[in-house]
This record gives sequence, structure tokens and C-alpha cells, in this order.
Amino acid sequence: MDEVSLWYVSNLQRCNFTCSYCASGQPARQQDRELPTWTLGQATHERIVDWLAALPYRVRLRMNSIGEPFASRDYLRCLARLTRADNLSFVEVLTNGSFRREQFDRFAAECNVDKLSLWVTFHHQFISARELADAAEHARSRGVATVINTLVFPDNLAAVEELVTLCRERELALVTGVGINFNNAYPEQGFTPALHRPDPRALELAMLNNPLDGWHELSAAPAGRPCAAGAGYFYVHANGDVFACRTYATSGSERLGSALDPAFQLQPRVERYARCRSAHRCKCPEDYQNLEAIQSRFTWPARSFGLPAPVAQGEAVLDAKLDSAPALAEQRPPRRVRLAVLDAHCSS
Ligand code: SF4
Repeated sequence: MDEVSLWYVSNLQRCNFTCSYCASGQPARQQDRELPTWTLGQATHERIVDWLAALPYRVRLRMNSIGEPFASRDYLRCLARLTRADNLSFVEVLTNGSFRREQFDRFAAECNVDKLSLWVTFHHQFISARELADAAEHARSRGVATVINTLVFPDNLAAVEELVTLCRERELALVTGVGINFNNAYPEQGFTPALHRPDPRALELAMLNNPLDGWHELSAAPAGRPCAAGAGYFYVHANGDVFACRTYATSGSERLGSALDPAFQLQPRVERYARCRSAHRCKCPEDYQNLEAIQSRFTWPARSFGLPAPVAQGEAVLDAKLDSAPALAEQRPPRRVRLAVLDAHCSS
């Protein structure tokens, strides 16, 4: 059976946090109590889950809701079902880590935990570094593959440093990156507020352990570059529409079919790479990690979509990241810091 990677963003709109920088615009939706939790209906989601569980491929699945999965029992039930489906290699669930222990244990008891992965993102405005590390450690103690993800903003450097220390002490997998200024949450501080004013501490934290983060420049103009989207990877929209990638979905181009159409059969392209035809920036790492230039340098572990490791270790890797990102290279840290960063990177 061939393997495909799928990223599915469901139509569940529900969260217990209201982060100012939320990429999904969730705070606005949450304040309007009239909006439905399932914007396109729970039945739509359930039918897409049916389709995923019946695909004739080994599926590596990344699951987003718009918000927090542990805020919906019905969504958790679907996740648990997917972990039990024979064709799923793993199900990676994005969470803010605010779940209660008993709640998590009830959920895990319904899952095949050997196929369950958690991607636990730190939202410093609503949870402490210690609470997040405790939650991730609890999930790991139940046999769940767990990765902590933290984004660096100007006002969370101390909290991120605390989280980095906790992850090292507890040997928790960690991915760091630069937070993006969604909703203009950091007025007049540019696209990546943490780097708006040169700050070696912010740069060091952001580059600590995110091999893909330096590839923003490559993904800014992807047209013409060989990419595996449409062969090994697809994006499934909340309404069931299937595209080669989220970037194509955003522009509405080259829809392949619908998971809700019983006649639709997902047909991966035979050639691994085809030239990208997007006129727009490829914004999401889930998408641009499919570029051949990236895939030739990184591998992904058995149970994570988002935790790449360099194929070749060494300072050349960090130099390649810096050289591919002039905005970061301008703030190239001194050699002493670079070596420290590299040590942390290589030991992950
Ligand atoms: S580079 Fe990005 S936009 Fe282009 S095909 Fe690949 S994933 Fe899609």
C-alpha cells in the first residue's frame, strides 16, 4: 500500500483560549456566541473522517480544528476512531495543552495510542511553560508521541527560555520558530515581531530547533520549484475539497475533487516532483516541506509531520538556513552562539 501525507483542517470552530495573534481569527469568532461551533456542520466533518478511514493508502495525518480539539467531545471521538483505522500510520493532533489529566486519559483509552501523536503549541498568554511541559509529559507517559512547539514573540522570551529549559530537563521534543503577526497583534512590529528590532536572544530562541524556519525565503516565491505536493502530500479543506496543498486551496486553483463525492478517488501523481504553479507565497511548513530542495535535506520521524531532522548534520546546515533567509542572516549571531545553537539542534 502506498503512503500519503494529508493535512486536514476541519470546520470545528471552538477554543478555550483567545490568543491575540491567533492564525485562524478564532478570538473574533469566539466572542460572537451566535456563531455555530461547526461552521459547515458536524455531519460534513464525520463524512470526511469516513473518507479518510477508507482511503486505500497508508495515511500520515495532521489534524487541525480551528481552535482546541479538547474543547469538543465529538471531535475527540472522531480522532480516536482515526487512530484505530487500519490504514492510518499516525494521527498528529494539534492542541494548546490545556487538557485536564483525566480528560486526556479518557481520550487516550479510546485511541490506539501507538498511532496517536500530539503537537502541543505554547500560547504564553494563557498557559505557563510549566503547565504546558507537565501536560506534554503526561501525554508522553501514556505512550503518545509528543512534540512541543513554541513561537517566539517580543513579550514571551523569558517564558520560552523557561520552556526550553524544562524540555531539556525532561527530554521533551521541542520545535521553536518565529511567531507571525496575525491580526496585527503587535502593531507596527512587522511580519515577525520578535525580529522587528534586532535581538540576538530572540533569534537564538527562534532558531534553536526549527530546521525549516530558515526556509521562508525559498517558500516566498515557490513557482517553478520541484515539489511533492500532489504526489506524496495533499490538503483536505474543511468542506471536503481536496487540493495538492493549502496554498492551492487558498487561491481555489486545481481542486482535485471532494471527499464528500462518492465517485472521487484520490490519485497521487506518479512522478514524485512537479514544478509548483503557485503565483503566491507558500506560507505553511506543512506545504513547503514538500519542496524537493527541503526534502533532499531533511527526514521526518515515523510519527510526526512537523519535526524534521537534517539528513546531514553540521554547521553547513545552519549556514544554509541563514543563507536562504537574508532577514535572518542580517542578524547572523556570533560564532559562539551559532555553535551553541547547533549543539542544541543536533542533539534533538
Ligand atoms: S511549493 Fe507550496 S504552493 Fe507550490 S506546489 Fe509546493 S506546496 Fe504548493
